[in-house]
Amino acid sequence: PVLPGVTWDKAPCRFCGVGCHVQVGVRDGKVVAVSGDRQAEVNKGLLCVKGYHVGHILYGPDRLTRPMLRKNGKLEPITWDEAIDTIARRIHAAPQKFAFYGSGQWTVPEGYAANKFIKGGLSNNHIDPNARLCMASAVTGYISTYGVDEPYNCYDDLDHCDVLVLWGNNFAEMHPVLFSRFIDRKLKGDRITLVDLTTRHTRTSERADHVLVFQPQSDLSIANCIAHQLIAANAVATDFVEKHCTFRKPWKKPGDPQTLMGEPCSFDEYKQLVAEYTPEAVAKTSGLSAEQLRLLGRLFADRSKKILSLWCMGPNQHTQGTAMNNLIHAVHLLSGHWGRPGDGPQSLTGQPSACGTVREVGTLSHALPGDLRVDKPDQAARAEQLWNLPPGRINPKVGYHAVEMWEKFCTAGGDIDTLWVQVTNPGQTLPNVHKLFDAKAKLPNKFLIVSDVYPTATTELADLVLPSAMWVEKNGVFGNSERRTQQWFKMVNPPGDARDDCWQTIAVARKLFDLGHSGMRDKDGKFLFHMTDAKGQEVPVWKWESYYGTVNVDEKLFEEYRPFTQIKHKDVAPYPELVKARGLRWPVVKQPDGTWKETRYRFLEEYDPYVAKGKGVQFYHSVAGDDKAFIWFRPYVPPPEVPDKDYPLWLDTGRVLEHWHTGTMTRRVPQLKRAMPSAYVEVSRDDATALGVKTGDKVRLETRRGSLELTAWIDGRGKCPKGHVFVPFFDETKLINRLTLEAHCPFSKQPDYKKCAVRLVKV
Ligand code: SF4
Repeated sequence: PVLPGVTWDKAPCRFCGVGCHVQVGVRDGKVVAVSGDRQAEVNKGLLCVKGYHVGHILYGPDRLTRPMLRKNGKLEPITWDEAIDTIARRIHAAPQKFAFYGSGQWTVPEGYAANKFIKGGLSNNHIDPNARLCMASAVTGYISTYGVDEPYNCYDDLDHCDVLVLWGNNFAEMHPVLFSRFIDRKLKGDRITLVDLTTRHTRTSERADHVLVFQPQSDLSIANCIAHQLIAANAVATDFVEKHCTFRKPWKKPGDPQTLMGEPCSFDEYKQLVAEYTPEAVAKTSGLSAEQLRLLGRLFADRSKKILSLWCMGPNQHTQGTAMNNLIHAVHLLSGHWGRPGDGPQSLTGQPSACGTVREVGTLSHALPGDLRVDKPDQAARAEQLWNLPPGRINPKVGYHAVEMWEKFCTAGGDIDTLWVQVTNPGQTLPNVHKLFDAKAKLPNKFLIVSDVYPTATTELADLVLPSAMWVEKNGVFGNSERRTQQWFKMVNPPGDARDDCWQTIAVARKLFDLGHSGMRDKDGKFLFHMTDAKGQEVPVWKWESYYGTVNVDEKLFEEYRPFTQIKHKDVAPYPELVKARGLRWPVVKQPDGTWKETRYRFLEEYDPYVAKGKGVQFYHSVAGDDKAFIWFRPYVPPPEVPDKDYPLWLDTGRVLEHWHTGTMTRRVPQLKRAMPSAYVEVSRDDATALGVKTGDKVRLETRRGSLELTAWIDGRGKCPKGHVFVPFFDETKLINRLTLEAHCPFSKQPDYKKCAVRLVKV
């Protein structure tokens, strides 16, 4: 658009994992306009209601602008020097009692710097991101199926599929631009089918051809039922399966503990294991009729149609999250709905860089960049070599995962006493937040550091608050759900004394270096974040005045990180190529003519340069080293808590279109706040009638962990089935996670926010 005095530049949207590109208009040092980027393949110029208003997130009236230390219960301004000194001295005194809680909203360089600082510098692996709460099950699902993490396919599938199956995913509100991309085809007359497998009727259901409302946790049985029907109908893709897959079960024999990599099993054994999941048997517990289950069986049995499966929090926030991910891959592999554009399974992420910063940079407590692990000596040695560290610097013990980390911090005897939170709001998002977070208030010796842009539920309990730069106030790189790495430049200055999170980490590292902490030196005695300019002169990037000086710190860190990505064939593009593009999907490989080419589909010879010639399909990181994927049997396992006479309803939590996650940013956007001012509880008409509740009445929700007063909304935006209620979690004044369970998947450690027992009382 032409606007007088406005200059435009590209950036990915700050919010969700879709990764739309926006054009950002700046005038007089301020973001004054945002438009959808027509050059962007992801969104082709379109944005959702949040994206169109993304510029406003910078200008809420209560931006944090100065470091503040709590003194006598009150946060008081201090200088950056004092803040950095305070953090460094606490870490120096007890480096193993320090933990870093990060985010899928960290940029790639920010996450990389934090990871290198703690794992390569402090020999401490207590770093975990909030993405543990949103996509850890997808990670374990991919690794235990294909031997390597992240989707093989991409959003192009939305343009080619004949059937879209959504597994517990309110696509219309959670990934709205992708939903529009699919619905546009329908509106233009493409004969495509939308199947909405869901536990409640949502805005997605309004557009679906089949709305299949199932009972919480029965998705495990439903997937096994599809597998059973494929075998019974002789519709297994035998050629594909024999060439490219082997079967797996979770234990040696039923009754043994389930393990992530399980045990091999034969096709005949697999057939017996799924035999009990007949449509008639599953209909008794799943809430679907036998005919609805047969419909799913027929869809997957029909190879003339291409089926895309998408999922996000439904199967991931699940005490059987890894199993559920395994099963979605299994029905696709078994049926041969795998490997054609439009025909395959793909998990989606909720955060803009859950893939880029968490999965690829390896900011989980067991991981290192490039899919390496801290507890594999050869892999840790590889990281030490790339980081030029002395052998043995990386601690082989896996660090605390998110829930464990907060338990260790918020209990008197817990061995974490200093915790630094960047770009996330655990005071609102941790499950059973009362136990895991609020308990900190009674522990004066525990020190909580929070880097953020606005006051939040987390800063309320913080001992030290650091004001951060956000989005286009800094350089950045994100990685979205389809392996697309996206770069942008700083366009405006942050307010007051707010500074980049990455600078904060480097400044603390340098202070530790000055205090004599040996871990902040590499093998040659140089500072861990040593950087030189084009003339070979060291640039003191730990000084804020030098940070945006003669070197681009983001580029330096990204180029240092890039060799890690080549280890498992996830080659990200060089930084200068990313500057030119609207994101590139890895592996990005140099062509003979010197250009760089992205990869739409991995493991397929036609697209993926790493598939050996003549192989067609090759799972080149397979668990067994045989180039084959696993087709898993994972049994139905009951949920840890089910409704009973005291707590007779199911509670489900999630998001709404207008707000993103905890609402820290979107609640500062007047248009979005007006559109959805506060949280509510969605109640079914049947339950409301039985309890004498009307829309607008105040009600109290009570679980075994806590209670919360909310306004009732009968049927809400969609329709809760009888016996179910839904509450969105965006509202910091109504913390629904005081009620949710901390029970988690045994492999991914991801908690289940989607189902626990609750009662509703009219007040
Ligand atoms: Fe931003 Fe996601 Fe909306 Fe796209 S769909 S504009 S990335 S919030």
